[in-house]
Amino acid sequence: MSGLMDGKVGLVVGVANKRSIAWAVTRALDEAGATVALTYQNERIEAGLRKLGDSLTTPPAAYLPLDVTDDAQLDSAVAGAADALGGIDFLVHAVAFANPDDLGGRYVDTAREGFMLALDVSAYSLTALTQRVEPHMVARGGGSIITLSYLAAERAVPGYNVMGIAKSALESSVRLLAWDLGESNIRVNAVSAGPVRTLAAKGVSGFTEMLDVAAERSPLRRLIAVEEVGDASMYLLSSISSAVTGEVLHVDAGYHAMAT
Ligand code: NAP
Repeated sequence: MSGLMDGKVGLVVGVANKRSIAWAVTRALDEAGATVALTYQNERIEAGLRKLGDSLTTPPAAYLPLDVTDDAQLDSAVAGAADALGGIDFLVHAVAFANPDDLGGRYVDTAREGFMLALDVSAYSLTALTQRVEPHMVARGGGSIITLSYLAAERAVPGYNVMGIAKSALESSVRLLAWDLGESNIRVNAVSAGPVRTLAAKGVSGFTEMLDVAAERSPLRRLIAVEEVGDASMYLLSSISSAVTGEVLHVDAGYHAMAT
């Protein structure tokens, strides 16, 4: 995909470590010629993130602190990224969190506080970031935004619980954001990825069984590689998908197409 994103600059939110889906997207962006700014939620991961960033062909223009529940940090991270990059053409949103207790047992037992937390971090954050990147994308004549979703947005996945509700809200946000920003030539899409072993996935009860079922019942009879999410993201982030917006692209070896 060399050259596909030459000269393009953007913000990637959600790299925690080398296993993160956002890191696979960052590597694909780097190979395609883009320059990124990365964020970290707390100092605990900053050093590791800088080490990862140094391994890119074009090192990140900035590393910025960002807890997506904090409006002041949202303001400063987007402004800092735009300053360091000289503008923003794309945004990668790959952030999710729920109380560990809410990712197991019965969904019906979810308390208000856990519900609000999961929806705030995992769904509202896309809207909060989009509000802030919009003027920078308008200034460059358009842009592309992607977020990461999962099949539990569309189907009941026991164990995934409140995160399924958050993903439904996220995918619904994608459609409305696509409408609001479309007249400025800004596209908004989601990649619905099959299960991948990451830090966030460890918190989901029954995740190993989810991997087994996906490998057995997907049309391709295998799990996905995280690099395949990176490649599909390049399609949505680059001009080769110039007429695609409001879309949820399943990168799951076809699992979503099956009845069981
Ligand atoms: P990951 O590496 O653990 O990434 C999750 C990221 O969210 C981390 O960077 C984490 O930062 C960040 N985060 C959590 N709360 C935050 C907050 N308040 N402010 C800022 N950042 C926050 O796991 P991942 O699997 O790659 O997850 C990325 C996205 O892919 C998520 O939306 C996830 O739901 C989605 N997804 C994952 C799978 C899968 O099977 N892994 C499948 C489909 C979709 P810290 O680590 O610093 O907290």
